[in-house]
Amino acid sequence: MGKSSKDKRDAYYRLAKEQGWRARSAFKLIQLDEHFDLFSGVTRVVDLCAAPGSWSQVLSRILIKGESFGRRAWEEKQAEESEALQDHGEGKDEVGRKDASEEQKGRGGELRPRENVKIVAVDLQPMASLEGITSLKGDITTPSTITRILQALDPDTYVDDAEDSGSHPVDLVLSDGAPDVTGLHDLDIYIQSQLLYSALNLALRILKPGGKFVAKVFRGKDVDLIYAQLRCFFTDVHCAKPRSSRASSLEAFVVCEGFNIPKGYKVDPKRPVGLGAQVPVPERKKKDKESLIDGSQRRTVREDGVSVLEFESDDEEDKNRWIAPFVACGDLSAWDADATYHLPKGRVSLDPVQPPTAPPYKRALELRRQQGGLYGRTSK
Ligand code: SAM
Repeated sequence: MGKSSKDKRDAYYRLAKEQGWRARSAFKLIQLDEHFDLFSGVTRVVDLCAAPGSWSQVLSRILIKGESFGRRAWEEKQAEESEALQDHGEGKDEVGRKDASEEQKGRGGELRPRENVKIVAVDLQPMASLEGITSLKGDITTPSTITRILQALDPDTYVDDAEDSGSHPVDLVLSDGAPDVTGLHDLDIYIQSQLLYSALNLALRILKPGGKFVAKVFRGKDVDLIYAQLRCFFTDVHCAKPRSSRASSLEAFVVCEGFNIPKGYKVDPKRPVGLGAQVPVPERKKKDKESLIDGSQRRTVREDGVSVLEFESDDEEDKNRWIAPFVACGDLSAWDADATYHLPKGRVSLDPVQPPTAPPYKRALELRRQQGGLYGRTSK
C-alpha cells in the first residue's frame, strides 16, 4: 500500500505526519489524557515499549515544553479568554460556578513547563533521540532492565541493590508494548498479556504510592482475569478505547490509578505477578447501590458514580474475574480511525517524521535484495 492510500484510509496516520508525531499512537495517549487527566501532578515517567517514540514526544512536549493539544489546547484557550473577561470584572456566573480559568489553575498551572521532569523510555529497538528523554535499548521482560531504569532515573543517587531499593520514584508507568502480530489471535493475545504482565511487574517496583499505570491490552477471552489482578494493586481500573484506536481492533488500554500494594503482599521479583498468581484482594469501600442483573452478574454503582459489573458465581475460577468499566475517549467529533477520507486534489503525501532507525525488517530486505528480489529464487 502506497503512502497516499494510507493517508486516505487513516486520518490519524496523515495527521501524525502533519503535526510532527513519529507515529499515529500519539493521538491515543493524548485522547487518554483528555479523559483521565493522566499528567496531573506528574513529573517522573517511564515509557515502556516506546519506539519509535510518539508517546515520549507527547510526554516531552507536555511535561518539558508545557504545550497542550486537542481538547486541552481548546480548554486552555477558553481559560485565557475567561481570564481576560475576569480582568474586566466578568468572572464567575451568578450561581458562583467555577469558570474555565479557575479549573485550569486547579491543575496547578501544569500547562507550563514543569520542574525536575525525568522521562525514561525503553524499547527493544533503538530510538532516535528526543529532547529531555533518556532512552534505553532493552527488553522489558528481562529483570535487569529495571536496574537500568532506576539508574537512568537517578544516576547520582542510585545505589546498586539486588533487592527492592525502596525508593519508588515514578509517578506514571506507560506501556504501549505490542508483539509482532502473527495473525493467530490466541497466540497474539497471549504474548500481549505477557508483555502487559512484564510492564506491571516493573511498575510494581518503581511506582510511588498513588501512582498510575497505563498499558495496552488486547481484549481477549480472559481479559477480565487481568482486570481483576490489576484491581488488587490500584484503586481505580478502567478499560479505555481512544477514538484513534481502530474500533475493529481488539486493542484497548487499561488505565489504573491509585497504586497501592495490598496488605500482606510483598513484591518479589522471583515470584512475578502473572495469570494464575494469587494476590490478596484489598478491602473495598462499602458499596452504596447494588442491583442484580442475573444470577451471575452484579451491577454496582460506586460512591463516585462509576458503574461496575461484577461476577457472582459458585465456580471458583469465575470468582477471580472482574469486568473493568469501559470508557470511550476522544471527542465524538474526532476523526474515525476506521473510516476512509477523500483527500483534496493535488494534496502531497508527507514523509514519516522519523523513519525507523533499525527496523526488524531491514535484514529481511537485505536478504531479499541479495537473492534478486521477491521472486529471485523461484525464477532461477
Ligand atoms: N508507543 C510507541 C510510540 O508511540 O511510538 C509505539 C509502540 S509500538 C506499538 C510497540 C513497541 O513495543 C515496538 O517498538 C516494539 O519494539 C516494542 N516491544 C515489543 N516487545 C518488547 C519488549 N519485550 N521489550 C521492549 N520493547 C518491546
